Amino acid sequence: MKAPDYDVIVIGGGPAGMMAAASAAERGASVLLLEKNPEPGRKLLLSGGGRCNFTNVEPDVHRLTARYGAAGKSLISPFSKMGPREVLEFFASRGMPHKVEDNGRAFPATNKAESVLKVLLAEMRTHGVKIRTGATVDALLVNGSIPANREVHGVRLGSTRITARTVITAAGGLAYPETGSTGDGFRWMQRCGHSIVHPEPSLVPVIVHEPWIAELQGLAFPEIRIAVLAGGRVLERVTGKILFTHFGLSGPGILNLASRIADAAASNPDKPVRISLDFFPEDDGGSLDRHLQQLFAAAPKRKLKNLLDELLPPRLTARILAAAVDTGTTSITDIASITGSSVPRQLRKRLVQLMQDFRVTYKGLQSEDWAIVSRGGIPCNEIDFRTMQSKLVSGLYAVGDMLDINRPSGGYSLQICWATGFVAGCAAAAQARSR
Ligand SMILES: Cc1cc2nc3c(=O)[nH]c(=O)nc-3n(C[C@H](O)[C@H](O)[C@H](O)COP(=O)(O)OP(=O)(O)OC[C@H]3O[C@@H](n4cnc5c(N)ncnc54)[C@H](O)[C@@H]3O)c2cc1C
Repeated sequence: MKAPDYDVIVIGGGPAGMMAAASAAERGASVLLLEKNPEPGRKLLLSGGGRCNFTNVEPDVHRLTARYGAAGKSLISPFSKMGPREVLEFFASRGMPHKVEDNGRAFPATNKAESVLKVLLAEMRTHGVKIRTGATVDALLVNGSIPANREVHGVRLGSTRITARTVITAAGGLAYPETGSTGDGFRWMQRCGHSIVHPEPSLVPVIVHEPWIAELQGLAFPEIRIAVLAGGRVLERVTGKILFTHFGLSGPGILNLASRIADAAASNPDKPVRISLDFFPEDDGGSLDRHLQQLFAAAPKRKLKNLLDELLPPRLTARILAAAVDTGTTSITDIASITGSSVPRQLRKRLVQLMQDFRVTYKGLQSEDWAIVSRGGIPCNEIDFRTMQSKLVSGLYAVGDMLDINRPSGGYSLQICWATGFVAGCAAAAQARSR
């Protein structure tokens, strides 16, 4: 029989696929990486707003895996081989120093996702990975019909067949499909007998009903308190960063809450779900009120709007004043003429309330096109996490966003890619040697 063309074929040139390909090649395997885009790493370059939050430096593996909910148990094994410490060391020893920001988020010192991609490309080059871009895989080649005897032996691209001893699928999930992750991998795995948990956007911006939200587009707040309310009851309260967009809210604080807000709306179909923003989480109502009184007393002749602009961005204070008018606390003509010395007590109290309980109404989640991560994919119990090999098809591996693992933002997604890619690369190289 003719020998297979390669020891390992990796489908997908994202972070998980590139790490898998480099690890397999470093262990002596002949490796072909197939990427349908003209170049690998398109999504990686967008990550972290172009800065790439490439891992989270949480040193305790159990505390780290707890961030992944039910899937955390499965990740203990891969994280014990390529945890955040090993990831930092991997990149540092290849000339990429890092810096750590709030909540343990690690970024390349250059602040450029490109630095991460450069290391991966150089690593693949050093170990002789053959990269073919513009190459769309259509199907997996699998022998055998009985699940336990099934074995992968290559891939098909149109009418071309390329054979291999092992295949690592790293084709991504369904989030942000313009980067190439269009769910192809889920279809192949399903054909092999895997059950795919229906993918849904998970780390995704939120659309709100209020049309005036567009006036606030681009305003960002580092740490504010966010509450989710239904029927006047607080369902969730977190602190985090937010960003106003032309349709609603984004930023890590909202992305991390998005699926819980959607769940709250689904379980309260007859009640509007509101998102309340507290722009002064350090102050209680009393201290903010005192602060306003001092501000007004210190500049009795200045216009109210100008005074508020010292505390919050002018576009937001304009909206807060408009909301005060809407609730009948004052009138438009009055508001323009009010100065520090003439702010009525009732209006001041209402301003304090709006600064600490600024509400918008949830309309829906943005589509997958906007999602950082989608939940869903291959269930963890169908993969052996000691090797990342499929439990149904011998020689077939799955890594990165193909797996059904929900996680927050903060470097946790790419940490999965490095760990699962590394483990799969090592295991596939070893299996190819024994076949
Ligand atoms: C805007 C944005 C910002 C993000 N920021 C961060 C961050 O800062 N930190 C973090 O941890 N995570 C972040 N993420 C998530 C992170 O980027 C993903 O979890 C990660 O890219 C998944 O890697 P992957 O290799 O599994 O898949 P992908 O990166 O999606 O790569 C899959 C590759 O497979 C290719 N492919 C698909 N189908 C085929 C086919 N049929 N044939 C050949 N090739 C195919 C695709 O073209 C693609 O290049 C962000 C995501 C987005 C969208």
